[in-house]
Amino acid sequence: MNFGFVMDNRSCIGCHACSTACKSENQVPLGVHRTWVKAVEAGQYPDVRRSFQVTRCNHCSNPPCVRICPVSAMVQRDDGIVDFDSDACIGCKACMQACPYDAIHIDPETHTAAKCHYCAHRVDVGLEPACVVVCPEHAIIAGDLDDPESEISRTLAKHNVTVRKPEQGTAPKVFYIEGNELSLRPSAAAVPKSFAFADVVDDPHHIGAVGTRTGIPRETKDHDRYPVRVPDPQGLPRSGPLHIGGRMAEHMVQVAYTSRHHVPWHWPIPTYMVTKGIAAGVFGVVALQTLLATAGLMAPVVWSTVAPALGVALVMLFVTLGLLVYDLDRPDRFFYLLVRPQWRSWVARAAWILSGFAFASVGWTAVELAPLWGLDLGLADALRPFFAVLTLPTAVLAAVYTAFLFAQAEGRDLWQSPALPVQVALHATALGLGTLAVFDGSWMPFIVAVLLSVGVTLVADLTVAPPSELARRAARDMTWGRFAMPYWGLGIGLGHVVPLALLGLGEAWGPLAIGCAALGLLGWSWALVMAPQQLSNS
Ligand code: SF4
Repeated sequence: MNFGFVMDNRSCIGCHACSTACKSENQVPLGVHRTWVKAVEAGQYPDVRRSFQVTRCNHCSNPPCVRICPVSAMVQRDDGIVDFDSDACIGCKACMQACPYDAIHIDPETHTAAKCHYCAHRVDVGLEPACVVVCPEHAIIAGDLDDPESEISRTLAKHNVTVRKPEQGTAPKVFYIEGNELSLRPSAAAVPKSFAFADVVDDPHHIGAVGTRTGIPRETKDHDRYPVRVPDPQGLPRSGPLHIGGRMAEHMVQVAYTSRHHVPWHWPIPTYMVTKGIAAGVFGVVALQTLLATAGLMAPVVWSTVAPALGVALVMLFVTLGLLVYDLDRPDRFFYLLVRPQWRSWVARAAWILSGFAFASVGWTAVELAPLWGLDLGLADALRPFFAVLTLPTAVLAAVYTAFLFAQAEGRDLWQSPALPVQVALHATALGLGTLAVFDGSWMPFIVAVLLSVGVTLVADLTVAPPSELARRAARDMTWGRFAMPYWGLGIGLGHVVPLALLGLGEAWGPLAIGCAALGLLGWSWALVMAPQQLSNS
């Protein structure tokens, strides 16, 4: 068995019966949808047409949401249905970042991930999904793609069909007859801030709403309300105002209705990139120095000097762990990460990496600092190599895993940059060296790390070709668009140029320099995390 859908756009009349039946059958709360009818208007007045596209989870053959889920709450059944388990979900929202189709939302009542599940409960008793049964035009065909005699297989054999974003390699199993490129491609048409027959109410995960919590739309300029965007040859939309009562647009393309766009990750993620960078950087550098000293390649570490830096690093580590739990929509289930990990997920791996790092760094600090506090158990010399060997790899992994987790978030093309592991490793190294320099006064390694960091950051962010149209738009937003201020003002200016300038004035400015570097990294991380999330995948 291998279930899929065919959507016959020739028959769809845009009645929304499928969306309504889905909400009723699955008791979907207000404000979220498991399926919706995207409508796009295109043409030149008076010859303007509205086309419909039933949009939902594609039940991909190669589902990235299943791969990234750290607790197997998102699963691919043997019959090809991609189902979810609300009782297992911890609300980490990684699946929302991995889905390239914006098919997943957080249920506002259970605070867990939800989406179309092919009405698996109906399929299990021999019934068709509710949307199929209710459609008055038989525009939705469900069935077994592996059975050549099924209606869906015979329909597919007779027609040319398209799928959404085939270049993602997910092998979607929702096929469209007469699929409209303007509907299939998320960036092909502008999404207005309000629709003719639907206002959008702000919520914490929503970007792009003009509605208020009362549902009354705020005023928008004509420019926002009537955008005219026509894909240019590079695929990037051009836009311009349509002046009502004045000059008419040559050609209009706009989305008349689609579902909300959700932004899953907010300030805790950029913040924890900074706190984690400090913790991993300090312990990584101290572990490396200890191993080199053990091998006789450098002077021994003076523990009374580095002790305050280790204290700062431990505080940052616990802030990191706190932010990660806080960002879960079901923080009460955080321990699922440890007791039921799904090992292909970098979220699950991250939980174990941070746990190992915490065990190594806390244990090592206690052993080393005990003599300074008059508790000399005589264990430090014996255990030092063990803890150094354990701490170095866990610190390096703690510094760089974010890049691999971001790469697994296949719905955010900008995060697929191959330079990201190098960038985050350099940022952590610079923060670690700077924090240690505050207490031991050796600023030259920090200066070298900051110079390397700014060079690699600029080369990677400005010259590495983004892999897709959406990545190009996100990269442009990050560096020259709405995130230019955090990127240039904080990330590059405050994070790199100002620390170098301060240290040029004298080492007395060192503590301020490392503070600026940390704030700057927060700005860069904010731009990197938020820019691709603003772009709708549906
Ligand atoms: Fe559905 Fe998105 Fe997962 Fe594909 S990646 S199976 S569309 S939720």
